[in-house]
Amino acid sequence: MSEKLSFVSPTANSPWGTYLSQVDRVVPYLGPLARWVETLKRPKRALIVDVPIEMDDGTIAHFEGYRVQHNMSRGPGKGGVRFHPDVTLEEVMALSAWMTIKTAAVNLPYGGAKGGIRVDPKKLSLQELEKITRRYTSEIGIIIGPHTDIPAPDVNTNGQIMAWMMDTYSMNTGGTATGVVTGKPLHLGGSLGRVKATGRGVFVTGREAARRLGMDLRGARIAVQGFGNVGSVAAELFAEAGAKIVAVQDHTGTIVNTNGLDLATLIPIANKEGVIAFKGGDVVPNEAFWDTACDILIPAALEGQITAERAQKTTAKLVLEGANGPTVPTADDILAERGVLVVPDVICNAGGVTVSYFEWVQDFSSFFWDEDEINVRLDRIMMNALNQIWDTADKHKITLRTATYAVACERILTARQERGLYP
Ligand code: NAD
Repeated sequence: MSEKLSFVSPTANSPWGTYLSQVDRVVPYLGPLARWVETLKRPKRALIVDVPIEMDDGTIAHFEGYRVQHNMSRGPGKGGVRFHPDVTLEEVMALSAWMTIKTAAVNLPYGGAKGGIRVDPKKLSLQELEKITRRYTSEIGIIIGPHTDIPAPDVNTNGQIMAWMMDTYSMNTGGTATGVVTGKPLHLGGSLGRVKATGRGVFVTGREAARRLGMDLRGARIAVQGFGNVGSVAAELFAEAGAKIVAVQDHTGTIVNTNGLDLATLIPIANKEGVIAFKGGDVVPNEAFWDTACDILIPAALEGQITAERAQKTTAKLVLEGANGPTVPTADDILAERGVLVVPDVICNAGGVTVSYFEWVQDFSSFFWDEDEINVRLDRIMMNALNQIWDTADKHKITLRTATYAVACERILTARQERGLYP
């Protein structure tokens, strides 16, 4: 007999509602471990912090920040920090829960956590960005640490922000705690291969899925939503393998070129001004992105983008979830009915946290690996995890998403059971 959480009101397609429905779908495959499933339906700990800073014009501004530790049964919390005006506690809860599933799916010794600040960082000066990062880090400093919870970059955060977080935590604790965050610059204990790791994981899992579908990557048409760290790197790797990137959407708009967009020119422009500043494609209305003729669709922006309506009209045969939670449950069902294969976020975008794990291990041993070693290890972990998930999907005749949850939840709940309840 468990009470409902009072501090969120999820709807069917909201991030936490989506996550809860994904957990419900795995229960029939958990056997006796299903007894513990409620532990996945509530965060272990959720911290809301006030982040006041003095702005450049002398005014005082307050922002709302969060750090949620969803589950730590298998190890310390791990998960990114998002700076975005739409961040909410409910969104951060869902993102932290997806981290729990993801770290277990690739068998890393972590739990799941996530953080965020409700702010539009594009409206802040560099100095204001540093202040907000440092004050937020100080506020959540009571629950993060190299052995308790290790943040990393997510939407609108990057290596510089991780450097400020590491420095702030270190100042407050009196040492140099490189292992408190991952995704740091190389000079500060960062890892080679980390910046491209998530996009690389999307490529590695996507290449394997295409192979199993009998789809030739040479000439395959790909549409990418979100052209930041994850989307642009995945696009580059697929283009190197011979695919054509025919449509790209970011927060500025959508561009299409059926002959393939020239990424070498597009990426630097997109990074600076957004994709619609690029002249080598046609600007189309945003909704037209979803019915652009393509073989592979890569959502790599935000949650809830693939709605039922968009799932109905996509021409893709393969969806690679670079973003977290891009597909709502009703859309998932439609894609399955239409025979569209979805490689779910909790395995598809796990490359980032895998190399974050390598970074953390390297920081502790103060011994750094070369990029080849990192990529070989990354590819091996991703492929082993994907193959195990695929076998589970085939065995139970379930989607790759439910199979990933089955593999991950068994690990998490076995750990929970073996640890037992305290007191
Ligand atoms: P980013 O900030 O580098 O890029 C985000 C991209 O999304 C930008 O191109 C932005 O313009 C675009 N975008 C934002 N709002 C949009 C909208 N309404 N419509 C279309 N495009 C929009 O972020 P990122 O690190 O690439 O993260 C993208 C997604 O991947 C997120 O869901 C994130 O949680 C997930 N993810 C990131 C990592 C990582 O290592 N960075 C790891 C796993 C998952």
